[in-house]
Amino acid sequence: MAIILHVDDSSFSRLQIGKVLKNGGHEIIPADNGKSALELLRTTTPDLIISDILMPDMDGITFLEILRNRGNTIPIIMVTADVQKDTETICLALGASALFNKPPNGDDLLAAIVQALGKGV
Ligand SMILES: [Mg+2]
Repeated sequence: MAIILHVDDSSFSRLQIGKVLKNGGHEIIPADNGKSALELLRTTTPDLIISDILMPDMDGITFLEILRNRGNTIPIIMVTADVQKDTETICLALGASALFNKPPNGDDLLAAIVQALGKGV
């Protein structure tokens, strides 16, 4: 069981991915964009972050970049509808553990969480 900060502006995705995480026995802290996630991280220390990329106010790549620039090594898995070819390369270069296209396969996502928790960044 892990405490997971789930960042996504889509309530549908928060519901859908939230269901997968709950079924996997995880506890979820929801946030609707990178900015509110950063705010939450001032007072909360999740085990892992799952983040969407395309979001208003602060997108997932900027969020990931800010965390790593601050020396925060918390594992981050990106889940996005943005299927541009470079997106995965950029995210992995910035220290993301994995990238999934929406909607992610539940079993694959849960397996990636276990793997990310095991190896960190
Ligand atoms: Mg989005």
